[in-house]
Amino acid sequence: MITRRDFLRRAGLTAAAAAIINPFDLFARTMQRKVAGSNNNISGSKKMVLTYFPFEAQLRHVFTIAGSSRTTTPIVLTEITYEGFTGYGEATMPPYLGETQASVIEFLKKVDLSRFSSPFEIQDIMTYVDSVAANNTAAKASVDIALHDLVGKIMGQPWWKIWGFNAANTPNTSFTVGLDTEEVVREKTREASPYKVIKVKLGRDEATDKMMINTIRSVTDTTICVDANQGWKDKHYALEMIEWLNERNVSMIEQPMSKYMLDETAWITERSPLPIIADEACQRLADIPGLKGAYHGINIKLMKCTGMREAREMVSLAKALHMRLMIGCMTETSCAVSAAAQLAPEMEWADLDGNLLIANDLFKGMVIVDGKITLSDKPGIGIEKL
Ligand SMILES: [Mg+2]
Repeated sequence: MITRRDFLRRAGLTAAAAAIINPFDLFARTMQRKVAGSNNNISGSKKMVLTYFPFEAQLRHVFTIAGSSRTTTPIVLTEITYEGFTGYGEATMPPYLGETQASVIEFLKKVDLSRFSSPFEIQDIMTYVDSVAANNTAAKASVDIALHDLVGKIMGQPWWKIWGFNAANTPNTSFTVGLDTEEVVREKTREASPYKVIKVKLGRDEATDKMMINTIRSVTDTTICVDANQGWKDKHYALEMIEWLNERNVSMIEQPMSKYMLDETAWITERSPLPIIADEACQRLADIPGLKGAYHGINIKLMKCTGMREAREMVSLAKALHMRLMIGCMTETSCAVSAAAQLAPEMEWADLDGNLLIANDLFKGMVIVDGKITLSDKPGIGIEKL
């Protein structure tokens, strides 16, 4: 007799097999599943097993924002196995956010998934993971993403479908042009020509900020999203800059002032001709109600909010509060970027170019077609290991 679980497993295998083109690859994966399955049968164990290892992402270019420059990003990759299926996850740790490979591994050592009988108990599992220690949001996201990938693979469906989103509604992604010399900015702008939106990191000083925009405008009229990364110190100056930017085909402003300057930001938002979006000010679900009125919208990132479960809840809450939505990422592999892309149909703006900045990506996942985020029918978060 076929149980419901067997049915779901078979459906998952069929969908996964259909998504794989290389027959040798398919054979290898089928064998891996059989081996893992038989091991489970021998031991009689049907437990989830979490494993993790550190990885250093090499950046294609030196990456500069208002605070710092760097050429690598530390990452921890996770895997959760269950009944022959493997879900992949990732924690990425830009230095300014406070987590490190050591702190993530220390956190993951404390996570005991053997106390749960099924990966389908996502709510209970993530409530527990969140309670293991405060903060550690990227470490928590690495468990959440692997768990979602695993469950989607068992069901044989991608998360955008499980959530009931319409893949046709995905926005264009922006491509980031960092602070640099005029010559380099011009070159990077030409490199960004396949993209429909350019994201510019401003917030240094007036001369540099205007040089960045004028240089990009000397190459292209493509829409620009501006991220000030809390760099503007005075609300009157910030509003003047926003009005100047509004005349230059800029579509939105991310985090104009310090996340602590809520009243000043509300003053700007009330007067701004462009939407003002919270990034540093919006970490998790509980932050959203306090931002209503001070910002037009929020930028959701999986590494800030502990992963896909909470990100999905943030979408609902922000919509209920009539706030506008953006999805962003850190410098991360196609694993975490593809997980974030599952939410893209609900977003007005997307900044999912983190994987494009990495020279040694380990996964193949979400692709950009003609500037637009394109979701596949591959199950889970829609990735394959390279
Ligand atoms: Mg930002």
